[in-house]
Amino acid sequence: MVFFLPKKDDNTIARTKVLENVLTSTSQGDPYKELWRRIWKATVPGKVQIYVWRACSNLLPTRAKLSTKGYQGDLQCLLCSHAYEDTSHVFCKCPIATAILTASPFNLGSSLLPSLEFKEWLLDHARNLPNDLFAKLLMILWALWKNRNNMLWNHTKQSAEELVLSSLAWLEEFGKANKINKTALSKPKQAWRPAGYGTWKLNVDGSFLPGIAHGGVRGVLHDDAGQFRAAFAAPIPAVASTRQVELWAIKEGLKLVATMQVSNIIIETDCLEAVSCIAETQFTYVHDEGIIDDIRQELNHRTDISVQHTSRVNNRVAHCLANLAFEARHSSMWFMKPPDFIVGVLNDDCKHLR
Ligand SMILES: [Zn+2]
Repeated sequence: MVFFLPKKDDNTIARTKVLENVLTSTSQGDPYKELWRRIWKATVPGKVQIYVWRACSNLLPTRAKLSTKGYQGDLQCLLCSHAYEDTSHVFCKCPIATAILTASPFNLGSSLLPSLEFKEWLLDHARNLPNDLFAKLLMILWALWKNRNNMLWNHTKQSAEELVLSSLAWLEEFGKANKINKTALSKPKQAWRPAGYGTWKLNVDGSFLPGIAHGGVRGVLHDDAGQFRAAFAAPIPAVASTRQVELWAIKEGLKLVATMQVSNIIIETDCLEAVSCIAETQFTYVHDEGIIDDIRQELNHRTDISVQHTSRVNNRVAHCLANLAFEARHSSMWFMKPPDFIVGVLNDDCKHLR
């Protein structure tokens, strides 16, 4: 078995821990299983999932937490001067938190009981809130922590209204970039399938958020029996469009295929525009000219490789690496053994094949 991982950044480590936690909890009947599942499944940026998971695990450096590690300074809340700043205070009891959470669309006033630990409180909402509202709640929790840190480091803070507007605007942008057709998900004929005898399949995907210069690409390679063979994830320092980042994903995919020295590959992307501009012989997209030429050149040499369009649903595993690639600072490749954090989605995708 060849198993290679480069130096991990903090987010990758935290993320892997999240999944380890989910897996361990599943086997041991952890009462918080539903909470971890909802955090992990929520359609919110990876950074937000990690911060909320850290908050639940009491790993955020609140002043109360720091005092258990030798900090002897002030324990007061940075925002309201309450005597003791712990996780529950920051997220549920500080006036800015209660102002937001008791108002629409959350209306969680009755749940802000002093007796509940933050983790129990969030578990309760993980069980009861619909997906969209739970995702919004995660965004707000992240924004409350960021606001507290801004006060600590920059002596600036947002009003409740500004905080809600900015975090929910980000969620909306993120949602657009990650929209998954849920209707298609429920149709069995839409399920991911291996390419067929003698042909391997590489699903690639790219992530790009308007207004953010960098993006990320990733891909997963399966053999003709649907077995995992390899995956890659890589940051792209400068991207200008979805099409461009998807083209990068194809280019990086071709690199993986070359590294593995395998033949007969179908590369699947959910970006129809990328597929058509590679196939196009007349018109050239000026901005992406170089990368399109690179891809065409490689494909001219490799007649055993074709690039095809697939629905986003069929591209779920590649998509699952989205946040990782988006936030990663290093390129990674995995051979033979999938990275832990996509195991769940891989199993889900392939269970109809067993
Ligand atoms: Zn406070």
